[in-house]
Amino acid sequence: MAERIHIIGAGLAGLSAAVDLTRQGKTVCLYESTAQPGGRCRSYYDDTLGRTIDNGNHLMLSGNRALMEYLDRIGARDRLSEPDAACFDFYDPVAVERWSLNLGSGLLPLSLLKAKNRPPGSRLGDLASALKTRTASLDQSVEACLGQGGDARLYKRLWHPLATAVLNTDPHEAQAALLWPVLKQAFGRGGLSCHPLIAKDGLSNALIAPAIKYLQLHSVGVLFNHRLKSVESVDGSICTLNFSSGSIPVTPDDRVIFAVPPLVVEDLIDLKTVPNEFRPIINGHFSLPRKIDKLTIIGLINSISHWIFVHDAQRDVASITISAADAYMDLPSEDLAAQIWPEILAALDIESCPIGPYRIIREKRATIAQTPQQSALRPPCRVAGLRNLFLAGDWTDTGLPATIEGAIFSGKLAAESVLTRR
Ligand SMILES: Cc1cc2nc3c(=O)[nH]c(=O)nc-3n(C[C@H](O)[C@H](O)[C@H](O)COP(=O)(O)OP(=O)(O)OC[C@H]3O[C@@H](n4cnc5c(N)ncnc54)[C@H](O)[C@@H]3O)c2cc1C
Repeated sequence: MAERIHIIGAGLAGLSAAVDLTRQGKTVCLYESTAQPGGRCRSYYDDTLGRTIDNGNHLMLSGNRALMEYLDRIGARDRLSEPDAACFDFYDPVAVERWSLNLGSGLLPLSLLKAKNRPPGSRLGDLASALKTRTASLDQSVEACLGQGGDARLYKRLWHPLATAVLNTDPHEAQAALLWPVLKQAFGRGGLSCHPLIAKDGLSNALIAPAIKYLQLHSVGVLFNHRLKSVESVDGSICTLNFSSGSIPVTPDDRVIFAVPPLVVEDLIDLKTVPNEFRPIINGHFSLPRKIDKLTIIGLINSISHWIFVHDAQRDVASITISAADAYMDLPSEDLAAQIWPEILAALDIESCPIGPYRIIREKRATIAQTPQQSALRPPCRVAGLRNLFLAGDWTDTGLPATIEGAIFSGKLAAESVLTRR
């Protein structure tokens, strides 16, 4: 029998590895514990709102190279909407102030030379303080790196919300060095790399379903409701995969990729270091009393919500994100919604009106805590002591934050590692 690559977990990391290996002509089998692919990046039909919603707003950037390559491979680039400009609007209800960060559309962020394209009162030199993340020591927090000795207002208006969104960890403890790859890959290359990208008709339709279709067209076995419960090994190689539904032998030529969350890996094998702290994200989807003209993304300062998106096709649902949301996880949904609703109305300039149908979604382990301590626990793709096993997932040591880009890149790294292994 031809050598097979068994990939466990059909989140973005597993899908990315499966697509790359299939493209290289390898025989791939993909196993997923649930009945649906996508993991933490998925859509579902919600009865209350009467439409398909995402488990969370997922913002991507046109400069995310692994994402773009993945979309091209599965033929889904057109399933993301891209606003015309690399422009991020902000609103502060306390100062009653609106402003935009506009990076223009060139290869260099030259538009920032104009004051109107920067947060009010900031100077160009203040923005250049982002370069400090490049040389930040591994134990330095975002707050220590960017929040001290610089422009305090710019920190509050730009670096704090940006770091919270990218790292899903409060900047007082988030690792500054992890911000640098994002600032370099996207913001450092100007507007062209910085266009915000949003799934047009939901995450599953844009990032997941086309990958499953690609795999099935190439005769890849995609098996749902297959939870890996344990593995057996002999002579330093995995030889059996024990699923909830039965066992599958792994021949000496086969390889295995674990693209599952860190605590699942920890249960399956004896791994020395695994991140074990997580941060939650809360998303809320709120029916609006009227349609909003265009795709809208607004960053909020001095508010419970961090971002408001109006991105669904009908433009009549506002979706909010609260990152690093520990403080709100135990608040009843009714209370949280009642506090968020006025923020939505003010940011979208809608007259006061009663709250309509809404849905609050809490993802307790949205990402690992991206602190210096937890980053140090992120393992590489290769596993010492098990030569046919490879790891993928946004939590592995990719050098990138735990994001869509990180997850897809980790799958690509695992595929490359499988292909080059002797
Ligand atoms: C609410 C929310 C908002 C987010 N916002 C953004 C954003 O704006 N931008 C961004 O870039 N990123 C965002 N992220 C992060 C992004 O979703 C993740 O980085 C990415 O989806 C992780 O993919 P993954 O494949 O590494 O892991 P997962 O998606 O967790 O995939 C792991 C898969 O393994 C399966 N599995 C688990 N155990 C087993 C088992 N024993 N056997 C078989 N299968 C198993 C799971 O069911 C799952 O399908 C957000 C995440 C959340 C939750």
